[in-house]
Amino acid sequence: SLSTFPLPPKPPSNPNILKQTHEQGTSYGTIVIGGGHAGCEALSSSSTLTSTLCITQKLSQVGELSCNPSIGGIGKGHLVREIDALDGVMGKAADLGCCHFRMLNERKGTAVRGPRGQMDRDLYKSAVQSILSEKCNLDFLEGAVEDLIIDFDVNGEKVVKGVVTNTGEQILADAVVVTTGTFLGGTLMCGLERYSGGRHLRDSEAVEPPSNALSKTFRGLNFDVGRLKTGTPPRLNGDTIDYDLLEKQGSDSEPIGFDHVRQFNGLRLPNEKDFITCYKTATNEETHRLCLEYEHLLPRYDGAEGDGMGPRYCPSIYKKVQRFPERTGHNCFLEPEGINTNIVYPNGMSGPYPPEIQQKIINSMYGMSETEIIVPGYDVEYDFINPIGLKHTLETKDVGGLYLAGQICGTTGYEEAAAQGVVAGANAGLKSKGDEREFIVGRDEGYIGVLVDDLVTKGVTEPYRMFTSRSEYRLSLRADNADLRLTRKGVEYGIVTDDERVEALEERKREVERGVEALEKFRLFVSEWSEKGGDKMGGTFSSSKKKSSVKKSAHEVLRMPHVTLGDIENIMKSEDDKFQSVSLNSHDTVEATVKYSAYLHRQEKDMDSWRKAQGLLIPPDIVYDRTNFPTLKEEELQLLKKFRPGTLGDANSIQGITPQGLVYLQQFVRKRG
Ligand code: FAD
Repeated sequence: SLSTFPLPPKPPSNPNILKQTHEQGTSYGTIVIGGGHAGCEALSSSSTLTSTLCITQKLSQVGELSCNPSIGGIGKGHLVREIDALDGVMGKAADLGCCHFRMLNERKGTAVRGPRGQMDRDLYKSAVQSILSEKCNLDFLEGAVEDLIIDFDVNGEKVVKGVVTNTGEQILADAVVVTTGTFLGGTLMCGLERYSGGRHLRDSEAVEPPSNALSKTFRGLNFDVGRLKTGTPPRLNGDTIDYDLLEKQGSDSEPIGFDHVRQFNGLRLPNEKDFITCYKTATNEETHRLCLEYEHLLPRYDGAEGDGMGPRYCPSIYKKVQRFPERTGHNCFLEPEGINTNIVYPNGMSGPYPPEIQQKIINSMYGMSETEIIVPGYDVEYDFINPIGLKHTLETKDVGGLYLAGQICGTTGYEEAAAQGVVAGANAGLKSKGDEREFIVGRDEGYIGVLVDDLVTKGVTEPYRMFTSRSEYRLSLRADNADLRLTRKGVEYGIVTDDERVEALEERKREVERGVEALEKFRLFVSEWSEKGGDKMGGTFSSSKKKSSVKKSAHEVLRMPHVTLGDIENIMKSEDDKFQSVSLNSHDTVEATVKYSAYLHRQEKDMDSWRKAQGLLIPPDIVYDRTNFPTLKEEELQLLKKFRPGTLGDANSIQGITPQGLVYLQQFVRKRG
């Protein structure tokens, strides 16, 4: 149990920690444009490898959560754990800023459990800034980048050489990472009012300026630029919500958090004593009537013929009402924005109606008839660059040394942005060092790999969000084993340099091994034992022999569908009072390692054969026609003819080639020998 462990020190509450340190005339290995979630991770991974400069519009905004005050969730929580396994910023900061924590899907299998932390916005931001301020090799400059310096290499290919700022300063670098979020060509909208901006300053009418000059640069360089939109709900005065009428959402009693090193040190989350409660309300028929009645006052967008292309899985309240007319209510979670604030975020209620209509909509909900809006919600429509033009390193195919990461690549969400930041920063750092290796996380190694591979091979037509269903290796890519999958790789590429993190990894490995071994050795009695298609079935089990029961190892018993590690440990404890349960830190890993052992073994084989198949050379003289490929789709045939991939892995990265198409191609090449 974690409950006996001490609380670590709280982070400083002053969020404005970063100071401008750049001196005119200094050049860098990498320049990162933007200090959002992608930018912070790119700064962190790049600065472990090379001298790095962050240029961002406002240093005080570094680490700002622009929309929801939470980190993680299903799929997203997996990404945060992976970012942390690679010594990124987000997991550490999320633990320091956390004021409410839940393991989502707790009752489902470990593969789909998602850690989610509610953040105190100021604590989160100050934690990010304090982590970055301790990095060596990292300078900061407050300002806007207005242009890129582009040159040609010896082969006549375009390469980036640096940036030009709004003061006209030219700063040189070997690599540039662009992480401008929703700012590129940003237009903010509330009702029928449209105004230029990247986002509003938190809880305020003041607007941060859009990045229009840089948008022009990308268009000038012929990048495939499109428009996407997203929205944020109004912020509410919590003192005017009737909480007595609403359902409570408490935090987990033993919150695990995200940071592997903190867990290794046995520390609890620092703000646990002050954890807040969230509440649940819902829309109703009156809310829906208002949403439809005032539809004509919603903004008209540039994209999707005026409708705008927004996040499908995080739709506005109007979209939900329109799409599901049969529903009589939609949940709304009321999430306080921190420990010492009365501001509340109504999750699920974005909808950029004029402020007075937003007020009516909020007041129509249960427990909210008197609730005041402090700041109305709004939408932002912005330029994104289709990531189909990127390599797996997130370097652009057209301009060497230029990397993109975050919302600019068409994703939505802090975690997706941060995950790309790690990859782009690491590759930019390697390139500037002259290290020819590429830091690529495979689809079989992590959700970071799934995310990047989906983006660069399929491109984006609507905001991309991570789900566990996007991975074909869900049983192996779990939130609980991110360190076991990725930390070693981070060390190999020089982005994990913290000895304590490596020590934590080694100790976890040993603990998991010990836990599994103990289950193999311990034997107990099971009645009605049978095996069905590789699954272990059985009825009741206990430490004492009953009529017709059979003796089985705890390892086998745990593989029965209804048995948990906790059940088995209770019996082990009753047999031996010195028995020590597996720590909370490794509980899920031990359980999943045993429970899924048969499937994991099969999956490992599939992964292995795919890894080998990716390198399969495709003879250059192959004729892509109907005689050779009678069952391949016409579109795939044309694509293969056009791109003539050198390996099966190359064929996989062509947008439009299906997994079935790859199977035909692989069979043909193998048959030809
Ligand atoms: P950001 O966090 O936006 O950071 C971009 C940074 O770049 C900023 O610091 C900015 O100052 C800097 N910058 C921009 N241009 C320049 C320049 N030329 N020079 C120097 N610095 C520059 N996410 C969700 O998951 N769900 C939602 O519902 C949702 N709704 C949102 C609603 C709104 C109104 C906004 C603004 C954002 C919303 N988000 C939502 C998106 C979330 O904020 C982003 O996914 C996330 O912040 C993206 O991270 P990023 O690092 O790519 O960009």
